[in-house]
Amino acid sequence: MITADVLALGLGVEPPWKLVDQRLETDKRPHELRIELAADRGAEFPCPDCGRLCKARDFNSFTWRHLNFFQHHCYITARVPRTDCPEHGVKRITVPWARAGSRFTLLFEQAALILVREMPVLAAARIMAITDKRLWRIVEHYVAKALSGLKLEHLKAFAFDETASKRGHNYVTVFIDLARKGRPVVFATPGKGKQTVSDFKAFLEAHGGKPERVVEVVCDMSPAFLAAVGETFEKASQTVDWFHVVQLFTTAVDEVRKAERRQVELPDATRWAVLKAHDGGRLSDKQAAALAELEAGDFLTAQAWRIKEKLRWVRAAETSHAARWRITHFLRHARERIADNPMLEKLRQAVETVEKHQERILQRWTSTYNNARLEALNGIFKAARARARGYRNVATFITMIYLIAAPLGELFNSI
Ligand SMILES: [Zn+2]
Repeated sequence: MITADVLALGLGVEPPWKLVDQRLETDKRPHELRIELAADRGAEFPCPDCGRLCKARDFNSFTWRHLNFFQHHCYITARVPRTDCPEHGVKRITVPWARAGSRFTLLFEQAALILVREMPVLAAARIMAITDKRLWRIVEHYVAKALSGLKLEHLKAFAFDETASKRGHNYVTVFIDLARKGRPVVFATPGKGKQTVSDFKAFLEAHGGKPERVVEVVCDMSPAFLAAVGETFEKASQTVDWFHVVQLFTTAVDEVRKAERRQVELPDATRWAVLKAHDGGRLSDKQAAALAELEAGDFLTAQAWRIKEKLRWVRAAETSHAARWRITHFLRHARERIADNPMLEKLRQAVETVEKHQERILQRWTSTYNNARLEALNGIFKAARARARGYRNVATFITMIYLIAAPLGELFNSI
């Protein structure tokens, strides 16, 4: 077997294409392996629209970046014909080694995608020696292609939540299928609020789903969301995720702390001590000391924190009946503690919100779906932010969320 055949085989080049030239350009750093392909004289090419074999009308030269040949960058150049189909007119053909419009070979893109699944895009771009912007374009193409084949005809229950791609900016709302154990994300869209619910409905219908088949929706207590869900998914019951109840009280406790700090001096490390404890995070010695001092000093922040901590006891209820009793008790206890102290206003509002949505909160005890999903979603957001580092905007953030957590199937094996 001669060298040309070996290279052609490695490239997957088949007739009418053949390798006509190869040279290593050693004046460049790194060296460049230049491979030239050409089609047999007189060969016919399929029209890109209908596949009818046509004679070449004219040719133009194109170059693709290919996988490195050892440490050398490798480029393929070929004169690509345009067909002149009687039905579809003049069209540039798609070559078998690259997708239309790409300046990279399929093998190069496949290697890039394998890296991107394992590491931040910026790091993958460095290894492949291309700009991260170009790599993002490749990733976005394949993710969109895989998503277009997503089938949602079985979707019966979903949850959604919003997050910011940067702190306080550029919101993205993400929808997960509650029946999917791994890779639950089925839709992510820019923005937050009511519109995103109709956007999801349209997406669901475009992917074979039926809004009237949806029986349960899990979301937070935002009145706009709840109203939108009620209007758009009429048959669905609404469940408030426990995660959002805790979040509501955590924010309220923090507001009390801020208000109290303006009047008295709070122990150092108070902030993290009262915020952290809610998710079982371990307190540092300093934070534990702050908490002990807060409690001993009978600060309002400590009182607010104790109310919030009682939520753990509510959550631990094993039956819906027990949970109902505990929530009632919790609300009464909280109201007594808060009384009409204006400093605890935020907490009073949180209590009111929980009271208003009590039935939807209680649903979690009867729901057939695992309720830890929205909490898991926050882990996905965090990972996506890190992996899109360096070139993060709403589009790349959404692409990364899909890449990490959407059921993209055999995407990477089918290119
Ligand atoms: Zn045609």
